[in-house]
Amino acid sequence: MEKKFDSIVVGGSISGLLCAREISRSGLSVAVLEEDYEIGTPEHCGGLVSIEGLKKLGIIPSSKAILNEVNKAKIVSSTKEFEVCTNRGEIIVLDRRELDKQVAFQAQKLGSQIRTRSLVMSVNYDSSKKEFIIKTKDNVFYSQFFIDARGITSLINNHNREGVLQSAQYEIYADWISPDEILVKFDKEKYPDFFAWIIPSGNGKGKVGVAGRKINTLETLESFIDSFGSKYSIIRKIYAPVWIGGPLKKFVYDNRIIIGDAAGQTKPTTAGGIFSCGMGGILAGNHIARYKRRIFNSLLNDYERDWFSIFGKEFQRMLFFRKIMERLDNKSIDALFSIVSDSDILEISRSANFDFHSLALSKILGSKKAIKLISTLLGNELRHLLN
Ligand SMILES: Cc1cc2nc3c(=O)[nH]c(=O)nc-3n(C[C@H](O)[C@H](O)[C@H](O)COP(=O)(O)OP(=O)(O)OC[C@H]3O[C@@H](n4cnc5c(N)ncnc54)[C@H](O)[C@@H]3O)c2cc1C
Repeated sequence: MEKKFDSIVVGGSISGLLCAREISRSGLSVAVLEEDYEIGTPEHCGGLVSIEGLKKLGIIPSSKAILNEVNKAKIVSSTKEFEVCTNRGEIIVLDRRELDKQVAFQAQKLGSQIRTRSLVMSVNYDSSKKEFIIKTKDNVFYSQFFIDARGITSLINNHNREGVLQSAQYEIYADWISPDEILVKFDKEKYPDFFAWIIPSGNGKGKVGVAGRKINTLETLESFIDSFGSKYSIIRKIYAPVWIGGPLKKFVYDNRIIIGDAAGQTKPTTAGGIFSCGMGGILAGNHIARYKRRIFNSLLNDYERDWFSIFGKEFQRMLFFRKIMERLDNKSIDALFSIVSDSDILEISRSANFDFHSLALSKILGSKKAIKLISTLLGNELRHLLN
């Protein structure tokens, strides 16, 4: 078995596999070490993604990977609600187990070596040989570049935990699940700092979840499901943390490169990360290849620069909206929802961009009426936030 590679990616999920695919495309050698037995399993994801985002990731999902199409989103507060429509076929629900396998196939066709059941126990750098020594239980690997794509575990081990929320998601059969409408429910008392959701996954199934700060996710999720009636069957349960703290300041430390969830590349509003984490993987892979091949004096830091130029401002705005929502109680959120007009909703439906949704949020939170209301509710705190 080969043990020496130009690059080793630890973590065989969306960001790690896309990074490996790009490195292989340039002809460099790369191995992906994944602790689980099977790529894509267990699935820790709702699978909601835009077709446009997938195109940018270079993925045309197989029919096996597409579970459903969604056309509407119902946003609900404790007493109010409004509905936003999307164009048919723009937003789909994926089976992540299939999607990740599809990307693994793309990567291995180009030359990546993927090894499952390879839990990485330690990573050390030998400065005299300028190489990483990466140990699994059964093997030792060597590489010039180490790509950390270990997901939230990496963030939790190395950074403060403020940005981590616990979540639970069940996939269930229930006749009360709307076939093509997502539900997002805000309730500050039940889901502090986040929300509950239903993502219809086709054929009467749905992914129903909750996340929040310091909540008992199991009890909270079961009471959310029970609120719709007693008729349902659970076919899969997942418990996983989500990251809402925004990106790390740096993704590159010499030849150690952090991508995906491990770099905090998930949206601070919804914790969605297939697109933004996947782009992290692609940009890192491209820049590692350029740097190694010395193309136009390129630097590994160019990956960081490019990711921030695409997502930096957007994520900053999302963090700002998050801070506002965190400070509003249920009554204030109701008040905010009641000033969303039909023309606002029409405008959001027309112009909303799933992957860059801060513009849609600013239509709700940035209208004159909303700013006046938020200023009254938050007073000096808003000025502090704006600063
Ligand atoms: C409940 C839930 C619902 C979500 N829903 C959506 C959604 O609808 N849409 C969306 O866009 N995003 C969603 N996300 C977020 C999305 O799943 C992540 O942002 C995305 O999977 C991040 O990909 P990644 O490759 O960076 O990390 P991960 O997918 O977390 O993968 C990390 C990989 O590293 C492996 N690993 C960790 N440590 C080691 C080690 N020491 N050795 C070897 N391997 C290791 C893990 O086994 C795992 O395979 C959701 C997340 C959760 C938790």
